[in-house]
Amino acid sequence: MSTHLLPDWNRAVVKVGSALVAPDDRGCRTTHLLPIARFIVDSRRAGKEVLLVSSGAVAAGRAAQDDRTPASGRSIPERQALAAVGQPLLMEHWRRLFDEPCAQILLTYDDLRRRSRFVNAKNTIAELLDRGVLPIVNENDTVAVEELQVGDNDNLAAYVAVLAEADLLVICSDVDGFYSADPHEDPDAERIEVVDAITDEIRAMAGGSHHASATGGMRTKLEAAEKATDRGIDTVLIDGTDGDPLDALGRGEMPGTLFRRADAGRRLSGRKHWMLHALPAEGSVTIDDGAAHALRERGASLLPAGIVTVEGAFARGDAVRIQTEDGSRVAKGITQYSADELHRIRGRQSHDLSTLLDRPDAATTDYVVHRDDLALTREARR
Ligand code: GLU
Repeated sequence: MSTHLLPDWNRAVVKVGSALVAPDDRGCRTTHLLPIARFIVDSRRAGKEVLLVSSGAVAAGRAAQDDRTPASGRSIPERQALAAVGQPLLMEHWRRLFDEPCAQILLTYDDLRRRSRFVNAKNTIAELLDRGVLPIVNENDTVAVEELQVGDNDNLAAYVAVLAEADLLVICSDVDGFYSADPHEDPDAERIEVVDAITDEIRAMAGGSHHASATGGMRTKLEAAEKATDRGIDTVLIDGTDGDPLDALGRGEMPGTLFRRADAGRRLSGRKHWMLHALPAEGSVTIDDGAAHALRERGASLLPAGIVTVEGAFARGDAVRIQTEDGSRVAKGITQYSADELHRIRGRQSHDLSTLLDRPDAATTDYVVHRDDLALTREARR
């Protein structure tokens, strides 16, 4: 057992993967869910608040329909139909484990990337928690079209943790933590107890998924941890196939891997977090080292002079990725100029803009992305 302690927390999101809900690939089983439910009940009794994000709708639907084809071999409408069959079964399965009232929340990516819907979902969740209800969340698999899907419940759980202003995200999986290499393939792989920041080196350690009914793998768990820690939410990855790690967590011990939350100075505000992690980028601009330095070190706005290349067909007001010539991610931001305009003004001084662009009302700004509309990546927030 680790010598590290679980940081104090008040509100947690507990994410439970399909590998735990439907371990033998034959529908919902209670085996692994009992210790998870006990952890939730005990935490609530201790005055803490918990939200549950549960996968397993498709797995439950397959079992109910006696469908033996793996979900990955099914078409999108087939998977959506199976989720529609399975979701009420999944809810019923969880509901039996709690005396408290449970609420079903089904979200799609659209609910997260549109600020008004995001705020609406946030208010509903706050109201449910106020009423002492246990929210049980899944993706709305039945209606989410592919482009508007979060796609995996690890990332969904991170978004929910942000929505709910949680201070802890617990990802229960069938692995006991984050390893330096894939433990199925590398006998020297070692479990890392604490990850202070998710760097390129940490990302390179993440392998794939090994369970037939699981969607994610280490990659999506890291993405989730990055989203959550960026907003000041500690993230824990534990083995949920065994009750011991959950009991240890309940005692305030740290049984798996802790991804430590960004410290106050590096944390993103709600709006910048949404820009960096939820708003889709419509294109990208590559900037020179001078501009990258100004953004990272001085928190400056992005000026046309620093832009080297422009990719994509974006409009004024769209979000764009900002990167350096060697491909390092620097930021995401909302552009004041369309891609066409940027092709004309890149590399030029701000005072040339009105002559370069035929904007009759001369409504040009000196900057391409204002510092307030620019969210730096974790690597850039040093
Ligand atoms: N939403 C999917 C389901 O309930 C699972 C997605 C995931 O496991 O990441 O079947």
